[in-house]
Amino acid sequence: LDLNLEKFCLDLLDELKLTECQERIQFVMTGDCHHGKLDRNLLTHILRNLLTNAAKYSPDGSTVDFELTCQDEWVIFRVQDRGIGIPLEDQKRLYETFHRAKNVGKIAGTGLGLSIVKQAVDLHKGTIDVKSQVGKGTEFVVKLPRV
Ligand code: ATP
Ligand code: MG
Repeated sequence: LDLNLEKFCLDLLDELKLTECQERIQFVMTGDCHHGKLDRNLLTHILRNLLTNAAKYSPDGSTVDFELTCQDEWVIFRVQDRGIGIPLEDQKRLYETFHRAKNVGKIAGTGLGLSIVKQAVDLHKGTIDVKSQVGKGTEFVVKLPRV
């Protein structure tokens, strides 16, 4: 199904602002990519989990950058936060069910979100990559084929 990606993402951000994080976090969306034949349901799972994590593992008042771009036949989603970061030894195990990093402290979670993201990315024949530094922040990049 051909999705209007820009509208889809803006609507999702509006919803997350209301439900997940009220005024705690500011989402800033940039980039430009209008259409893609992507599965609405899978994409919702991917972006909702990544954006919710970015908000949840960040301090009050911080900004989460969300970039949507297209390159050849790929749609690229980049979510960057300035939160607690992920220790290197946990980065390999992020997509395992119930795995949570050792630095989560009192932040609640079950450790399921990213395993669902990974399955959705695989079903879409896409890729997911993470770069993170403890105390500095985290960046996830998801690439999905457009057709
Ligand atoms: P939930 O099932 O509610 O999503 P969760 O957030 O703990 O629980 P995942 O979304 O699967 O589970 O994430 C797994 C772990 O990866 C988290 O517990 C956390 O340690 C780490 N993590 C994921 N995203 C981030 C992020 N943006 N910043 C810091 N740590 C993160
Ligand atoms: Mg999560």
